[in-house]
Amino acid sequence: MIDWSAIATAISDAGGERIDPGTARAAGGGCINEAYRLGSDPHSYFVKLNGPEQLAMFEAEAAGLAELADTGTIRVPRPLCTGTAGGRSYIVMEHIALGGYRADRAAEAGRQLAAMHRISRADFGWDRDNTIGSTHQPNNPEQDWATFWGRHRLGFQLDLAARNGYGHRFRDQGERLLAALPALIDHDPVPSLLHGDLWGGNLGFDQDGHPVIFDPAVYYGDREADIAMTELFGGFGGDFHAAYTEAWALDPGYRTRKDLYNLYHILNHLNLFGTGYLGQAQGMMQRLLAQVG
Ligand code: ADP
Repeated sequence: MIDWSAIATAISDAGGERIDPGTARAAGGGCINEAYRLGSDPHSYFVKLNGPEQLAMFEAEAAGLAELADTGTIRVPRPLCTGTAGGRSYIVMEHIALGGYRADRAAEAGRQLAAMHRISRADFGWDRDNTIGSTHQPNNPEQDWATFWGRHRLGFQLDLAARNGYGHRFRDQGERLLAALPALIDHDPVPSLLHGDLWGGNLGFDQDGHPVIFDPAVYYGDREADIAMTELFGGFGGDFHAAYTEAWALDPGYRTRKDLYNLYHILNHLNLFGTGYLGQAQGMMQRLLAQVG
């Protein structure tokens, strides 16, 4: 049983509205959590639930949403509270009524994302770890981007793949790829505030047509990592990319680095969903290694 009374109390304790717990309704959720809408407009909340051991995941998600929301650049749901109730962990955030995909507003999304990427700090990483899908994502700060990407992104997923039984297929390729990172990352990015998991399912448009991004895996990194992911599964459109690059042009060599950045997500999919992603991961690694001879 979900303890909606306890969650409604937590909402008002956190400064939210008093909500009738009986208004909870299942919402079309994502892949990882159960999703509900609680309350009715204009005062409703989007609630995600998982097992009690996932509280840290929700706390990191709330911190990430707050970090993005505070920039005032692109709309994200404002988080309200996290906790456990009735043997479940939960995150509560503002509910945003969504309209359909707005091709005519994709350029706005591109411009706003570029503005978000202008938010910077001294090093790569973040103040806390979070998750990508349901996989742990380490964000230990590093001064050097290639070091960050090698240790905390590709290296981490390659180690996970080895533990998942793919080691014999990847060991040699993986080691060569990690050694080649300084050559493959042949530009000098500033640490940009990233969404971190920017596939098409995490972009929506509110009732006024303004873009909204959901479910981030926030850290500071090369902004090309976000842009690469928008191209991995599609759903953003040419106007989005044209507006983004007009606001902030990408450095030469992005096309090469794109594969390097998307390899992280394909390895994560391999680790989460299994061998269906093996061929794609190996093909990407081969193409990348071919570029460094
Ligand atoms: P999961 O963590 O389970 O993958 P998401 O956070 O990706 O779930 O949310 C799944 C879907 O629910 C999103 O793609 C979006 O359509 C919708 N959604 C997410 N957050 C909100 C919100 N605050 N208000 C309204 N709809 C939302």
